[in-house]
Formats: sequence, structure tokens, C-alpha cells
Amino acid sequence: MADIALTRATVVTMNERREILRDGSVVIEGNEIVDVGKTDDVRPRYRVDIELDCRDKLVLPGLVDCHVHLAQALLRGCADDMSLIPWLCERVWPMQGSYTAEEGKLSAQLCCLEMIKSGTTTFVESGLHSRYGFDGIAEVVESMGMRAALSKKLMDVAGYADRPDAIPASMVEEGRSTMEETLAMIKKWHGKANDRIHVWFGPRTPGACTVDFYREIAERAKEHGTGITIHLAEVRQDIEYMRKEFNMTPMQFMEYCGLVGEHVIYAHGVWLPEEDFARLRETGGTVCHCPASNLKLASGIAPVPEMLKSRVNVALGCDGGPSNNCYDMMREMKLAAIVHKGWLLDPEVLPAEAVLEMATVNGARATLWGDRLGSLEPGKLADVIVLDRRKPHLVPVRNPVSNLVYAANGGDVDTVIVDGEIVMREREVKTIDEAEVVALAQELGLKVDERLGLNIGPRWPVV
Ligand SMILES: [Zn+2]
Repeated sequence: MADIALTRATVVTMNERREILRDGSVVIEGNEIVDVGKTDDVRPRYRVDIELDCRDKLVLPGLVDCHVHLAQALLRGCADDMSLIPWLCERVWPMQGSYTAEEGKLSAQLCCLEMIKSGTTTFVESGLHSRYGFDGIAEVVESMGMRAALSKKLMDVAGYADRPDAIPASMVEEGRSTMEETLAMIKKWHGKANDRIHVWFGPRTPGACTVDFYREIAERAKEHGTGITIHLAEVRQDIEYMRKEFNMTPMQFMEYCGLVGEHVIYAHGVWLPEEDFARLRETGGTVCHCPASNLKLASGIAPVPEMLKSRVNVALGCDGGPSNNCYDMMREMKLAAIVHKGWLLDPEVLPAEAVLEMATVNGARATLWGDRLGSLEPGKLADVIVLDRRKPHLVPVRNPVSNLVYAANGGDVDTVIVDGEIVMREREVKTIDEAEVVALAQELGLKVDERLGLNIGPRWPVV
């Protein structure tokens, strides 16, 4: 007896041999995949509760977004076409710094809704400020049925690179309290929701933490067997700061602080120098590439093809509402696949297959579910997405991976299964009232602007 069978599909397994099954089936029992194979072989072996006929559909592992700011969904479009410092200091930080826990929760609902609807099943939240309400956000992840590593933001200095007082008072937190809150959250939430929720450490960028504090974070993460994520070398000022203050490259500095290992995700890595690639590979950490954010904020273009060539694990992330401005990994995959070609004048770099690996197996490896996620194989956790290919922009299918990366968008995701539960079916999200969240986000999102006296609207006359 099985719970769910997806049958007659084109299955992009992402298994070791990267097999693509024509007329394939995936069978799920509880929260686990128990069988994957040709429909005629697999289907007769099971009596199933729910059979999803997936002819004309593509079935693949749920996408893994390794760099998400949940609290920024409500800030979508709040700071377009601005450079990083005013973007951060005049808009993003003051706006997030005025949040109530209710707004933190609503932003998380909006963000999770968008991720589910575009095929992301697992994400790494890069750092939650206390004021967003960690409990409320963890409850959203639990009830909406997603899988997430939720990082608590940690800091003990109010600086950003070489700007000592960069972080506004409303966003400043004290070192001891951020540590204690993180430990309390680990105790309360790590492994909860049938192990769909993990709690990580999210130390702020160099300039906002002392070396001693970084070292303490590294030790505590080891002690609790959990992960760490940090923004690293996102902008040029970051590497200049580490060179000037410590005479080190970013990875030398991370090693000096103990922030290395397979359990560490470095977001962005735009300015990582070539000499850091070997250390990245040897220590087993992951660089999360966020091309849309890096391009929109003019931070630069990360050396992704070079890192992959050096066998560094590179994953993919959407970042946030003011920097991207969406959480659609399908769109992110296309951008990742084409930006390096244009920049390096080489159409052969980052083929579609390498980008789909970044969004599935590489991302999975970066999370603590690593060996149980990222591919469709017996024994893996049942995180599966289904795309409908009966669309003008998705036929003909010559190479399904090409269509996924170059032609599809998040709106093509039809059905989403996380941990063996159907979270969305035929585009209807089962775990929350979508219309209600959308209406509330429109209303309360603009209230944040009003509260701060910000007048953010069209630059063209509205008549
Ligand atoms: Zn970020």
C-alpha cells in the first residue's frame, strides 16, 4: 500500500546517473520515496491512495533556495534602482526595523506562498531579527508545510564593513541576547514539524561581529550539530575591510573565525578571490549564488563557472523582495544560466544541467538534510514538484532540462509535495488561504511606508 503515486511522467530524477525517465513513476509512502522507475514496472507493484496521472507533465525534486529573507517579501519594490548603501540605510533597514511580529509573520506567509507556487520546497532563511517574531515565523513554516533552515541573526557590533555605526538603532541587537535567543530557538524548534524545521546561526557580515563572537558562534553550531549562514564578499567594501583590518582574504578570515565546514553557507561570494577557491573546496562549505540580487544592486557577478571548475559546491538563492524582487527559483535558474555566458563571452559555461544541479542536489548538499534531499530515489524524503508542459512556451520538449531552465517560470509549477504531503495541487495551495494573504499583504505592506513617511510610488504620473 502506498500513499501517492505520480505516474506516466517525464521524471528528471537527479540521481547519481542523472537519469531522465520517459513514462516514469514516483511512489511515496509516508514522507519517503519508496520507488522510482518505468510506470509499467513500478505501478503494478502498489495499491495507492492517490494516483496523480502526470502524462504531459515533468516531475522533479523540489527546488532548494539557499538564500532567502522572509521578512523582505513585504518590502517588494521598496527600493528599486538605488545603490546598496542608501538601499539598505534609507529603506530596507528602517522599514524592517519598524516591523511588528504580526508583519514579520505576514511577510513569511507571503514569501512561503510565492515559493510554494514556484516550486521551492526547501529554503534557508538567512537571518531573522528578534522583532520579526521567530515563533510566529516557525509556525508559518510548520503550518504551510515547507521545509526550512531558519537562521537567527546574531551580531555584537552595529557596523557594516568599515562603517562603524551603519546599522540603525531599530535593527541593532546585543550579542548576548542574540546568542541566548538562538539557543532557545534551537531548543524549541530544531527538528520540529517531523524534522521539517531546523534552526541555524545567522551571524551578520564582517564589521557587525567581533572575532571572539564569530568563534563562539562556530563552537555553538558544532555543539548543536546545526548550520551557519553568513553574507560573504557580497560587495567590494567587504573584501577591502577584511584586507585592511585583518590582512586576510574572505576565506582566510572565515577560517580565522572558525566559520568553515560543510555546514556553512556563504551567501553571494561575488568578490571571492581565486586563491579562496581551494579552501572552499577543502573545507566543504557552499557558496550561494544570487544573480538577480547581485545584478540589480550592481554588486558584481560572482565567479561561478570558475568556482564550479575548482569543485566548490555552488547553490542558488533568490535573496529578497527589495533586491530581486521575487522568490521564483525558475527565473533565477535562467538568469544564472545566461549571465555568465554574456559576461565571459562564452556560451558553453554553465549549461542548463549545471544550473539545475545548483538548484537541487548542490542546494540539498548545503543543508543538513543533504543526503536525503535533492533527487528522486528510493529512501529520499518525498519533496517533489510537478510542472505542466502543455503550454505554448514549453513545447516541443527536446531536452526537458533545457525547457526547465531556459523556458519555464514558476507559474508552470502545477503540484507540490513536501515530506509526503500535497501542499499544492493544480496550483491551489492547500495549507493557507491565498487570497487572504495577498489582500492583507497589499494593505499592510503599504502601511509600513506610511508609518515611516516614505512616499514610494510610480515615477510616472498616475491619472
Ligand atoms: Zn541576503
